[in-house]
Amino acid sequence: MPDFRSTNRLLDVAVPAPLRKTFQYLPTDGCANLKPGCRIRVPFGKQKLVGIFIGFSQTPSIDEAKLRSIIEIIDQEPVLSTALLQLCNWASGYYHHPIGDVLVNALPVSLRKGVPAHNPPQELTITSRGKSADLAKLGRAPKQLELLQTLKQSTLVKDEIRDQNFKPHIVTALLKKKFVTWRNRDLQIPSHDNVIRNYNNISPSHWQHSAIKLVDRPGTFLLHGITGSGKTEVYLRAIESVLSKSKQALVLVPEIGLTPQTLSRFTDRFDVKIEIMHSGLTNKERLTAWQNAASGTTRIIIGTRSAVFTPLHNPGLLVVDEEHDGSFKQQDGFRYSARDLAVMRGQLEKIPVVLGSATPSLESLHNCQLGKYKLITLPERTAGAKKETYQLLNLRNRESYGGISTELIKQIGDELGKGNQVLVFINRRGFAPVLYCPDCQWVAKCRRCDARLTYHLEQRSLICHHCGIRTSIFDKCGECQSFQLLPLGMGTERVEETLSSIFPTYPVYRIDRDSTRRKGALENVVQKVQSGQPTILVGTQMLAKGHHFPNVTLVAMLDIDAGFFSSDYKAMEKTGQLILQVGGRAGREAKQGKVVLQTQFADQPMLQQLIKDGYSVFAETILTERKLNSLPPFSFHCVFRAESPQKQTAMQFLEDVSRESLSSASVEMLGPIAPVMEKRAGRFRAQLLFSSQSRNSLHQVVDEKIKAAQHSRLLNRVRWSVDVDPADLT
Ligand code: ADP
Ligand code: ZN
Ligand code: ZN
Repeated sequence: MPDFRSTNRLLDVAVPAPLRKTFQYLPTDGCANLKPGCRIRVPFGKQKLVGIFIGFSQTPSIDEAKLRSIIEIIDQEPVLSTALLQLCNWASGYYHHPIGDVLVNALPVSLRKGVPAHNPPQELTITSRGKSADLAKLGRAPKQLELLQTLKQSTLVKDEIRDQNFKPHIVTALLKKKFVTWRNRDLQIPSHDNVIRNYNNISPSHWQHSAIKLVDRPGTFLLHGITGSGKTEVYLRAIESVLSKSKQALVLVPEIGLTPQTLSRFTDRFDVKIEIMHSGLTNKERLTAWQNAASGTTRIIIGTRSAVFTPLHNPGLLVVDEEHDGSFKQQDGFRYSARDLAVMRGQLEKIPVVLGSATPSLESLHNCQLGKYKLITLPERTAGAKKETYQLLNLRNRESYGGISTELIKQIGDELGKGNQVLVFINRRGFAPVLYCPDCQWVAKCRRCDARLTYHLEQRSLICHHCGIRTSIFDKCGECQSFQLLPLGMGTERVEETLSSIFPTYPVYRIDRDSTRRKGALENVVQKVQSGQPTILVGTQMLAKGHHFPNVTLVAMLDIDAGFFSSDYKAMEKTGQLILQVGGRAGREAKQGKVVLQTQFADQPMLQQLIKDGYSVFAETILTERKLNSLPPFSFHCVFRAESPQKQTAMQFLEDVSRESLSSASVEMLGPIAPVMEKRAGRFRAQLLFSSQSRNSLHQVVDEKIKAAQHSRLLNRVRWSVDVDPADLT
């Protein structure tokens, strides 16, 4: 074993353990030239783990005698580029998450287990001995002769050998004679002429044109374009420019399964290898996709949240489409924002990052005001389509049928009569959110959560939307045994049923998580709607996700009121975004679109402002309010959450965390408190909020509080987490 004093070097290794530090190991032979980002196998307690080499250090941080040697070096070349290592390192600090776990998150599962990172295809090639061999001697082995002759022309990979009917023993015989040998086939990065398949007769509008020009250099750009303004076309043109420079583009989207149309626009446009990265890939598929991106073979990578860590051989552009979407925030384990990591990655790689949305997040708008991002707007719809109009339909004192006002029913009938399509939005799946006993006021509740059970007619079940538990539908009251139970309120199933009975001659399609569970079910409905026949579409916010239905002229939103009275300070922002995203499905081509919002609060000033003055003014009002109340983005939040099967334990744990006074006067502490839904999935929850206008002070306090948590006597009796920039405080 080499003496580390002679090399004067120790290896700092990040290992996948829930500890917020790296570990030191003694080097073995071959470590002198080890590059950061390479995997090595190390002993860890009684286990052997795959860790990532971070760098060398000189002084042991523990007793020298206790240092152990690494077991083996796995990679000669790093699996994480310098930029990705820096990104992970930054993320570990920013999100206060163990570096080992951050790095593990950045790699495909197979690589975490230590399989070889690169498997270039092997090809059979003729050796110099083979070239000068006396072929007459092979006369009695005609197949060997034939293979050798073939190899004189070109090398062959395994599949080609098999396809040409050479049996394995022929190859073996030639290998034994050293006439042939296996070698790595060089990966050919495809040439870059003719990347365009088809422009589909689209030439950029002047708005699009200036946007495309602007994003052609490093920096972060917020592309605020109303729905149907041609943001995707801007991405496509920017990508074209990147491809022409032999570079790659990485596009992050909220949910892949929901937007088959968006994907086909990329494949229709470009004649290059495009890879899709999403959670449905098998480990093997994921590794291949990772390898192709790392080698540069794949030119465009489209993926969800975790694809932000995809290695790029020659990065040129990052796009985050629908940047306001909540799904970019990872909600468990390593809680990161893929949008924010994309921005940071763009800075590290010195490439442009384009954040696109019709309803940008308030953080991003604020970053534009601070001059950190550059705001680019697309204020008009393309190709002659007009912006949709909005109407508020006051539900108070108005006649309705099954929760749908008669005025709205009339409008739906009119549109169908004109041969148009109608989209009806209700943000709740199932038949009804409440099952109620009128005799004793009992309601069906989840026994594992502080929540009501949702009545699902199709599945004949009561389902808890928080923990997923399901029971068969009760036929009598759990309290007084009455048989008169009533489903109250509406969900997509009920709206589907109501509309089918009112409009029996028109097809009604439902789009929600239940109806699209089967593979291909969503594509099926999307196809039917695109045929253009008059139809009614009923659905949840799945409908808001980037679909392009040219024949939809009326969008009705049945229940938007909850957002105005939520305890979550972000609810108003989210409601506004949802209204415009769903509304944006109306009138996307030649026909004028209209959006009808059913509400009990038609005079709600924010709602009025949203539809009269548009998103920018609406957002500005909320920002002013947030500033007044020192809420994000004018301050920064970090929330500690804890949960435990025993009541009070989580609360007591966070009390331990909160006990010592804060080291910084500029940080405020709130709690611990129980969230509105204290019990979820059989666990009692508590949370403790830290807020500050100084990011540095917040980081410092959070570090101290993590230490306090680690010292709590209740540490092993709770699940706990730290969430920086939490998506919500519920
Ligand atoms: P967004 O992503 O902003 O909602 P899209 O990029 O989906 O908008 O564009 C909406 C529609 O307009 C698409 O069908 C697209 O093909 C078309 N389109 C985009 N740009 C143009 C253009 N310059 N001329 C004609 N049609 C366009
Ligand atoms: Zn539940
Ligand atoms: Zn009852």
